[in-house]
Amino acid sequence: MFTGALSKMKVELHDEVHYTLRLSSDLCVNDFIGSSIVIEWSGKITCSSCGKNTKKSFGDGFCYPCFISAPEATECTIRPELCRAHLGEGRDPEWENTHHNVPHFVYLAASDTVKVGVTRAGQIPTRWIDQGAKSGIRLAETPNRYEAGRLEVALKAFFTDKTNWQRMLKNELDSSIDLVEEKWHLHDQLPSDLTEFFTEDDEVIEINYPVLNYPEKVKSLGFDKTPRIEGRLTGIKGQYLIFENGEVLNIRKHTGYVVTIEI
Ligand SMILES: [Zn+2]
Ligand SMILES: [Zn+2]
Repeated sequence: MFTGALSKMKVELHDEVHYTLRLSSDLCVNDFIGSSIVIEWSGKITCSSCGKNTKKSFGDGFCYPCFISAPEATECTIRPELCRAHLGEGRDPEWENTHHNVPHFVYLAASDTVKVGVTRAGQIPTRWIDQGAKSGIRLAETPNRYEAGRLEVALKAFFTDKTNWQRMLKNELDSSIDLVEEKWHLHDQLPSDLTEFFTEDDEVIEINYPVLNYPEKVKSLGFDKTPRIEGRLTGIKGQYLIFENGEVLNIRKHTGYVVTIEI
């Protein structure tokens, strides 16, 4: 039996993605694909920033006071174009300086469609895996988060920045997508003040997920309505556990929920 507060699964890219849940001890979730598991929520939620109990969680598992004041819950984590780290400003200028006033990538990721996103330099391919992308390519490397956000906003005219989680979990892919072609086609269409940070690095990283078979219909479960979730685990994709009957559990959405897992 494993107990602890849930957090985003740690991912490592090998032939397929390796997933680790960090609870009372590290749990390699891939080992339990094909097995029946029970995950039970204790009714407790602890804040991912201050660690205090909270009745409800906001954003990525924050209590309300942290959601409105913690450096990592600042709005520019979701909307990079609002970042002011490069000006020495922001909710917590010191935190901004070490987390957002550093090199960032704008990327394209492929699944059922092409998606654009922004991430810190060290977060590739983690970010792509967390979104359940089939593949990804670096588009531009910028000196800070604001410049990446500015480019991303321009790219939203061409591509979405949202993941359709149902399609992602049903493994609906568009195999005709050519990320290198999309990247350089964009380069030709954008004004030159937006292309100065384009990178020559055209490596396309392919990602395989540990899934026995993909569901035809998916139904998302949550602990607020279903405190005890059980079933045969048939795979893991993005930050979701996939069960035999097409029920899925978004682990990241339940950051801070204190659970026990029985296998
Ligand atoms: Zn808190
Ligand atoms: Zn920022």
